Amino acid sequence: ALPILLHAYIYRRRAPDSFPTFLLVGPSGAGKTSLLTLLSHGAPSATHTSSTPTAASLTLPITTTPASSRYRSNNDPSADRARKFRLLDTPGHGKLRHYALSSLTKTSPGGALKGIIFVLDAAALGEDAGAAETGEYLHDVLLLLQKRHTGNKTSKGPAAIPVLVAANKMDLFTALPQSLVKLRLEKAVEEVRKTRGRALKDSGIELSAGDGEEEEREGLADGYEGTFGFKMLEDSDIEVKVAGGSVKGDKGEGADVQEWWGWVAEQL
Ligand code: GDP
Repeated sequence: ALPILLHAYIYRRRAPDSFPTFLLVGPSGAGKTSLLTLLSHGAPSATHTSSTPTAASLTLPITTTPASSRYRSNNDPSADRARKFRLLDTPGHGKLRHYALSSLTKTSPGGALKGIIFVLDAAALGEDAGAAETGEYLHDVLLLLQKRHTGNKTSKGPAAIPVLVAANKMDLFTALPQSLVKLRLEKAVEEVRKTRGRALKDSGIELSAGDGEEEEREGLADGYEGTFGFKMLEDSDIEVKVAGGSVKGDKGEGADVQEWWGWVAEQL
């Protein structure tokens, strides 16, 4: 999958006028494929496990105005173009996804990649195991972005890549209420932070690390006291927004993805 992603990336660099891209990530079963399908075909379809990245070219609904078009007339032909973007689904197991994500965030100057959409299952988040898995995944994504920021010591760092945490499956009555999603996530990320920090100490890496291993030892929101909060990442230029929604209703009700669209529009 990686060569294809890289190819997509290189291709994008050669075509400066191609559409802004958002990367879809998140634990398996969260609803990424369903979201992609919904947005590209108008209705979610039964998903199958594939191993090639899927990209969909999408257009924001007329009712959502991209930030760059706020002062543009609706009749302006460029307004239509400004509504277009690409959503890239990186398939495969967790590890592969991390790998793909890491290659993108490391090399991307930020121009092409406009944001990361982290999809999670709000019902799974209500259970300890689900919360742990989601927290670990989100932690790793955020740490990658933080390292990308740290690694760039130039005066003008790489363009920030904002993160939308799309809490999906809000239609299920087992879903964690919207008001608790952010708190629960921060707690889950905190758990990972603690475990990783302890593991590093126990391994003695701190004492023996030489040059080059510096980066490996960087922990998420290092240097901050207290429980982890997304706010701690603002110094690293990482903006996290949590918004609930559902790709499909449990009882055949329509999708509720308005807030996610709104976030995408803000980045365009
Ligand atoms: P992926 O592994 O992240 O690509 O997840 P999928 O898109 O394959 O979705 C996993 C399962 O969750 C599928 O059975 C979907 O039908 C279901 N699903 C996705 N979105 C929703 C939603 O908003 N509500 C409910 N109730 N189920 C959903």
